[in-house]
Amino acid sequence: MRKKGFHKAEIFLFFLMLLIGLAGASSWAAWSMAIGGGDVTGGAHTVGQFTFLAMVLSGLAFTCSLLLILPTLSRGLREQGKLQRMTETLSMRSQTLEHAAVTDAMTGMYNRRYFDEALVEYLAAFKRIRKPIGMAVFDLDHFKSVNDTYGHDVGDEVLRRVAGCFQDFTRYHDVVARLGGEEFAILSPNINERQLFDLSDRVRQAVSQLNLEAGNVTLRVTISVGLAIWDGSESGEDLYRRADKQLYEAKRKGRNRVCAA
Ligand code: GH3
Ligand code: MG
Ligand code: MG
Repeated sequence: MRKKGFHKAEIFLFFLMLLIGLAGASSWAAWSMAIGGGDVTGGAHTVGQFTFLAMVLSGLAFTCSLLLILPTLSRGLREQGKLQRMTETLSMRSQTLEHAAVTDAMTGMYNRRYFDEALVEYLAAFKRIRKPIGMAVFDLDHFKSVNDTYGHDVGDEVLRRVAGCFQDFTRYHDVVARLGGEEFAILSPNINERQLFDLSDRVRQAVSQLNLEAGNVTLRVTISVGLAIWDGSESGEDLYRRADKQLYEAKRKGRNRVCAA
């Protein structure tokens, strides 16, 4: 909070203004006496005194500016600059923290928290404009056996490569997230069932074509997908439940496929 009263620089400035004012008044007095000097006894002497006073006051004003105001102002500006740099660093740090709170560190995708918040916001907005939204839920097939056979590190690398397949096929407004473990989801606004199927199937195919190196073997993985198109009134949880039910169907029917209601 700003302290009450005047800042040092303001006081120095008032003092400077006073000096300039007095110097101006003295000059004006000297000038008006010089004009009518002939009529005043000892006029030349008084004009000289006023001129001298104006010069002394101007000198004082100059010294005051040089020794008091200039250093105070430059110190203030330096402090201001330091403060601004500190604020910028802090705001960058808080942006990084915010980003970390909604991002999955391993894949760089959005996390479940972000996905759930986006779902609530999208449904509220799309209810108003009456536009469709689709949800696709993905789950890697037999991923436990990848970990068991090749180790957890290879499993992590597989997850990162699979994450890359999503980025290649999704659009700017799609929200793509790793919901946890080996489960991913896309929330896709303005999309019909056919388009959502095509998009999801493209991702499924890309995952199945990944060549994943583990030591001297190349392994392949597949992914199953469940789809649901929002009915315009159900909650986000209900929409997710319907998509997840279709994912279960895809697993039941043999995996590596897309199922829609
Ligand atoms: P299903 O086809 O039925 O989905 O079989 P699944 O083996 O993929 O499913 P299950 O739920 O039995 O196993 C999921 C595995 O995913 C178990 C766990 O070790 C692995 N997993 C979850 N999160 C991670 C992770 O961050 N890194 C690695 N490497 N593995 C993970
Ligand atoms: Mg799985
Ligand atoms: Mg799973």
